[in-house]
Amino acid sequence: MSTASVRVRFAPSPTGLLHIGGLRTALYNYLLARQQGGTFILRIEDTDQERFVAAAEADILDALAWAGLSFDEGPGVGGAHVPYYQSQRSALYRRYAEQLIADGRAYYAFDTPDEIEAMRARLREAGNHTPKYDHATRAAMRNSLTLGDAEVQGLLDAGTPHVVRLKVEAGQTVTFTDAIRDAVSFETDELDDQVLLKSDGLPTYHLANVVDDHHMGITQVIRGEEWLPSTPKHVLLYEALGWTPPQFAHLPLILSPTGGKLSKRNAEKMGIPVSVRQYREAGYEPAALVNFLAFLGWNPGTEQELFTLDELVAAFSLDRVGSSGVQFSMDKLNWYNEQYLRRLTPEALAERAHDAVRAAGYDVDRAYLAQVAALMQERITFAHELATASPYFYEDPTEYDAKALKRWKADTNDHLAAFAEALDTLPTFDEASIEAALKAVLEAREIGMGKLMLPARLAVSGVGHGPSLYAIMALLGRATCRRRIQRALDTLPLPA
Ligand code: GLU
Repeated sequence: MSTASVRVRFAPSPTGLLHIGGLRTALYNYLLARQQGGTFILRIEDTDQERFVAAAEADILDALAWAGLSFDEGPGVGGAHVPYYQSQRSALYRRYAEQLIADGRAYYAFDTPDEIEAMRARLREAGNHTPKYDHATRAAMRNSLTLGDAEVQGLLDAGTPHVVRLKVEAGQTVTFTDAIRDAVSFETDELDDQVLLKSDGLPTYHLANVVDDHHMGITQVIRGEEWLPSTPKHVLLYEALGWTPPQFAHLPLILSPTGGKLSKRNAEKMGIPVSVRQYREAGYEPAALVNFLAFLGWNPGTEQELFTLDELVAAFSLDRVGSSGVQFSMDKLNWYNEQYLRRLTPEALAERAHDAVRAAGYDVDRAYLAQVAALMQERITFAHELATASPYFYEDPTEYDAKALKRWKADTNDHLAAFAEALDTLPTFDEASIEAALKAVLEAREIGMGKLMLPARLAVSGVGHGPSLYAIMALLGRATCRRRIQRALDTLPLPA
């Protein structure tokens, strides 16, 4: 296979908000396509009318665009295989279902749900715990294998509800190779005669998926491990249709931090968001989430952890995707977000935080916010924390941290007043001169740093921690600092 011919697809069903597991699948497909100079296709698998959610497609498109995963063929982009919506390709699936019937590889089944349930109940009573519509039972059911041609035609002409089922042969072992987990074998006796066309005339996932992957020239099917049990059915379908299957690659399960599958329910219990939208709204950088998801199953084989999307494209390979489940960690994701924030210019960080800061009621301009960003960049996990982590950049403190206040002693006011006086005489009000002024007071009064530094910080910011006090003060300016110090001198220590 020439590398230029790689064609991969992301094939979500629009049943709700895109999950992070779905974004990982899209990412791995994207990485392989871009690396190999191939084609990345988006196909909307919308044949399940009961689970269809109208807003889901827009959410999928938004999430991919936000994450920077552009596709070459698909909705809105077009391509040689339009339409990229399965709901608009019914005629194609029907044609292949009919071909399979003509070839004796599939059949019409007219059984009502009640009749099928009665068959299952009968088998269960006879001790069969996994009753199936299969080679053993189909002979006793109402289908085109048991009914005469004329009767079948009559039922079809009368519009009798029916499905089309694949005729799975008994006693065969089928094997396929998975790029991530070597050879996978299964026994056809374990499978039922799967439904290909439903009674509403629409295809099942299996038929539509196989027909489209073949028609769209898909070379690698990269999808989550939860689809592995479907793959035997797909392999049989490829075989029945006389087609060569693509290469399969089933990505490892995403596990919860405490082990076990990260289901929607246990994720929610642990406060782990499941939809991409939630991560976006929580303020994660798309590049950080992408980097994190890349490592949820893949590793570069080196110590490097930070990768841009382009670097991931260059480094990615299916060979380095493991088959065992990978544990999800919010701490790790937060670490990635911090790393990405630290690499932004202060201006870019300010740009990201500006709306949140304004929404918090602070009317600051971008240039000032960029200076705040420069001081806070190492101390925040999310850009929007510029609005909440250090309100003292935007307004005078009205309360003082109780714990830090305990260090406000009887002589503190006197030391702080001396510092305030020293500030008034500074020819310039910058970090170096503020530092020199503070140190001069310490020297003149023969006191240690702790006697003045913390009270000054508390007076200026209201809290006992933060970036360099001199930098905070220089940014706030002399008038603001003096006003705040004066207020502290007037109100502290608080009456016992
Ligand atoms: N429509 C399936 C899904 O929702 C596609 C699975 C596959 O990639 O074959 O994930």
